[in-house]
Amino acid sequence: MKTVVIATNNKNKVREFKSLLGNDNIEFKTLNEIGYTKEIIEDGNTFEENAYIKAHQVSKDLNVIAISDDSGLEVEALNMAPGIYSARYAGGHDDEANNNLLIKNLKGIENRKARYACAICICYPNGETKTVIEYCYGEIIDDRRGTNGFGYDPYFYIPEFGKTFAEVPLEKKNTISHRAKAIRKLKELLNEDFSLK
Ligand code: IMP
Repeated sequence: MKTVVIATNNKNKVREFKSLLGNDNIEFKTLNEIGYTKEIIEDGNTFEENAYIKAHQVSKDLNVIAISDDSGLEVEALNMAPGIYSARYAGGHDDEANNNLLIKNLKGIENRKARYACAICICYPNGETKTVIEYCYGEIIDDRRGTNGFGYDPYFYIPEFGKTFAEVPLEKKNTISHRAKAIRKLKELLNEDFSLK
């Protein structure tokens, strides 16, 4: 049995990783579960860099296999902002303030094309590293719709669904979401990795 540390304490992310990646030979542990409290500054310039910084630090400190992700929203007409600053776009960790600022900044702008991005990095104790990035495409609407999801979901409209991400159940979101796609891609890589079989 191999231990893989998921470098997050976000319960939703842990659940998604476990459900999509799990097999009988891997035991997943969160940072809380292994008592790792060191603060890691994610000061990279891209989603990939930030995912790497966290996974690499945890892997190095604990001599374990570590997985980390970084995600966010990119809006074409805003030069791909809020990007890596998505969680604190309006200053703090406040979804409502972030959404209000987003809609304000898009006022009068016709181009509403946007995408969610999710990078996932896995680091091995021997220094080997693999990173994947996936996207999910949609449009930003002016008025919120739906109560599911989190973050920018009530304003993130998927034309093929005719709904926002906040109007569909998680299972449906996961058929096309950036995070689910990145996790599936990582799984393909892990399936090629005999040490985790
Ligand atoms: P992080 O990956 O935990 O740093 O989260 C980045 C931020 O991007 C979140 O706080 C949200 O604002 C936004 N975000 C990332 N993925 C999603 C999503 O699936 N729905 C809504 N917002 C998201």
